[in-house]
Amino acid sequence: MVEGEKPLMKYVETDDPASMPGRLLKETDRFCFRCYPGISCFNRCCRNLNLFLYPYDVIRLRKCLAISSGEFIDAYTDVVFRETSYFPSVLLRMAENEEKTCPFLSQDGCRVYMDRPQTCRAFPIEHGIYYDAQTGRSRLLHYFRPPDFCQGRFEETSWTKDSWASDQEVVFYNQMTLEWADLMRLFQTDPWGGEGPDGQKGKMALMATYNIDAFRDFVLNSSFFKRYKVKPDIRLKIKSDDVALLRLGISWVKLFLFGVQGNTVKSIIF
Ligand code: SF4
Ligand code: SF4
Repeated sequence: MVEGEKPLMKYVETDDPASMPGRLLKETDRFCFRCYPGISCFNRCCRNLNLFLYPYDVIRLRKCLAISSGEFIDAYTDVVFRETSYFPSVLLRMAENEEKTCPFLSQDGCRVYMDRPQTCRAFPIEHGIYYDAQTGRSRLLHYFRPPDFCQGRFEETSWTKDSWASDQEVVFYNQMTLEWADLMRLFQTDPWGGEGPDGQKGKMALMATYNIDAFRDFVLNSSFFKRYKVKPDIRLKIKSDDVALLRLGISWVKLFLFGVQGNTVKSIIF
């Protein structure tokens, strides 16, 4: 990747791990990297990005910024449609300045550092999702792929993929991404029944996964529990637990768009 080229920061699903760009890291493979204020390229990786946000990223960022998920989506994201999926992608909107900097970049570095998105935590590791059709399970693939301008790769500190993930506190993010990828796989087929992703169903699916505050309001203040069976402990949890609510949202979208019955939520009307 050359300077000026947009790093494409996202996970991609693959059935051919070797075909992905970057160095595929196996369990014990090591890579050298260190990033710190004062390094000559400091913050150069925080501009002009296609930075894909996942639902758990939004949960963390909106809390860090003390705004609602709806306000966050309006102020900081672009919702775009791509040919490879029937579900839209949510990208962090870069600032409208010459360098198209990340809106959270300050002179001192990242102002949402403790809640920075998964892609930023994992950087310079990029992820692929490998789906094993035999077991029905997905796993994350890790690729070392720093851009050419990144000087951190010439440092001596060495890591495995796991020690890096642990150091950057990205392990739980990775788990949430896998759960999200399970739903995204279903969106390789069109669930919209002619109304397209802009229709009412599409708006509901986007809300249930990205606009967590609106989804909580919808679940708690509509006839949701008359139409869907949710275990009592989950009903209690979702009042205050964003992760439990997101998991309910993911399960609900699987159910109401694709008819996939899971343990979290079941249809009463079926
Ligand atoms: S380009 Fe690499 S070393 Fe430089 S600030 Fe970004 S991650 Fe750190
Ligand atoms: S969120 Fe923080 S780490 Fe990520 S691109 Fe923006 S400033 Fe950089």
